[in-house]
Amino acid sequence: MAGEPQDDCLFCKIVAGQIPATVVRETDTTVAFRDINPQAPTHILVIPKVHYRNAAELAAEAPQAAADVLAETQAVADEEKLESYRIVFNTGSGAGQTVWHAHAHVLGGRGLQWPPG
Ligand code: 5GP
Ligand code: ZN
Repeated sequence: MAGEPQDDCLFCKIVAGQIPATVVRETDTTVAFRDINPQAPTHILVIPKVHYRNAAELAAEAPQAAADVLAETQAVADEEKLESYRIVFNTGSGAGQTVWHAHAHVLGGRGLQWPPG
C-alpha cells in the first residue's frame, strides 16, 4: 500500500538499513545519501521514509513529507556549501526515473547546463 514499506523497493531497504548507503543527513521523516553513480561532484538523494512511487504521488498523498524532502534538499545544499545547484525529481520513465520511491536529486559542484536536454 502507498506509504507503507515495500519489500521489493531499494530505497525502502536503505531506510530500513538493510542496504548500506553513505548517509549524510537523517531526520524523523527523511534520509539523504550519496548517489552510487554521481553525475556531479555533489550528487545526493533526499528521500522520504514513507514509500510513494514518485514526487507527484508524494505531493498529493503526503504533502508534509514532500515539504520535509524539499526542506532537506536546502539543508544538504547548505551543508555541502553549494552556491549554485539543481534539485531534480525525475518523474516517469521517459524523464529517467529508475527507482520507484520518490526522491530528489541534489546536484552541484560543477557548472550545470540549461536546458538540461
Ligand atoms: P532516478 O533515475 O530514479 O531519478 O534516480 C535513481 C538514482 O538512484 C540514480 O541516480 C542511481 O544512480 C541511484 N541509485 C541506484 N541504486 C542505488 C543504490 O543502491 N545506492 C545509492 N546510493 N544510489 C543508487
Ligand atoms: Zn520504497
